[in-house]
Amino acid sequence: MDGFLRHDRELEAAEAAPGLLTIDLAALVRNHQALAARVAPAACAAVVKADAYGLGAVPVTRALQAAGCRHFFVAQSGEADALLPVLDAGSRIYVLNGLLPGAEAACAARGIVPVINSLEQLDRWTETAREAGRRLPALLQFDTGMSRLGLPLDSLGEVVALVSAVPLDILFVMTHLASADEPDHVQNGEQRAALARVRDAFPDIPISFANSGGVFLGAAFHGALVRPGIATYGGAPVSGRANPMEPVVRLDIAVVQTRTVPAGARIGYGGAYVTPAPRRLATLAAGYADGIPRALSDRGAVFFEGVRLPILGRVSMDSMTVDISALPEGTLTLGSRVEFIGPHQTLEEIAAQAGTIAYEILTRLGQRYRRIHR
Ligand SMILES: *Cc1c(COP(=O)(O)O)cnc(C)c1O
Repeated sequence: MDGFLRHDRELEAAEAAPGLLTIDLAALVRNHQALAARVAPAACAAVVKADAYGLGAVPVTRALQAAGCRHFFVAQSGEADALLPVLDAGSRIYVLNGLLPGAEAACAARGIVPVINSLEQLDRWTETAREAGRRLPALLQFDTGMSRLGLPLDSLGEVVALVSAVPLDILFVMTHLASADEPDHVQNGEQRAALARVRDAFPDIPISFANSGGVFLGAAFHGALVRPGIATYGGAPVSGRANPMEPVVRLDIAVVQTRTVPAGARIGYGGAYVTPAPRRLATLAAGYADGIPRALSDRGAVFFEGVRLPILGRVSMDSMTVDISALPEGTLTLGSRVEFIGPHQTLEEIAAQAGTIAYEILTRLGQRYRRIHR
């Protein structure tokens, strides 16, 4: 009875939500398994930073862990903290940015594994191990040409000497590909050659190399542990090619008002769009505060049962207006829902129209949607 009531209330709340963000955990797991199969015998981690690219780090981590994933990457130590309660004893969590001063002792005590990106971070983690009186795990990242994070390659000799003398267990040496989504980019080969120098300097330590794009560059880019993010979430790993991943995310937005306007009506802020003829309009309950890019003003669209409904005028903070003249009158009413991300409009299509990438669309999805994990 209780369970039934709770379910009922959940359904009601879902009905009342301005947007429904449906996350298909079964599809997510199948994506992970497809990537894992592609790179075997290398292991396949999951990058769950930024709340698992906006999809919910806790349910995503739970689902992937249940499917056998044991390696989880976040960007910041606070994100690792939040996932500790759901991690099994056999799973590890790594912090890509490494640790900011002051976070070391707590991370050591909690078993969080930092990626060491600089000599300062190496010093501080070594000091933490000495104070704790035990060896601590770490990953060691080298910068192979992205100029973002990692130890410089010209410090390789120095780092080899340092690492051999400190109470740290280096689990993997790693680097990050800057252009893996473009298979023909010259940088891929350059970074592979640079990483070969690191591998030769640390012959006994396994390598972590590929992100999503790197998984599709072939075995030479895999190492012993790959770190896909976007592909696990259904995003295209390689730009300009058919996306082999299954979609994971669907976003439906509620209609809050419909109206018919004559020719010459101004729509939204700035009155920027003026109707050339009478139009039927629907106002939708999500705007840029919910992650609908403002760049989609006058160019994006939503769909209803396959019919394209163009966004007219500027996207507001909490709403936007679409042209529903293509639908039979009365099709959409208060509370109807239209598709923003789904079978008729992929993440990549939305991103292209907004002049951005699928990663940004996902990670900006707002907190006001109701998230449903299936
Ligand atoms: C974000 C990130 C990844 C995952 O990248 P995708 O392109 O989403 O697969 C892997 N490694 C590092 C270092 C990252 O910062």
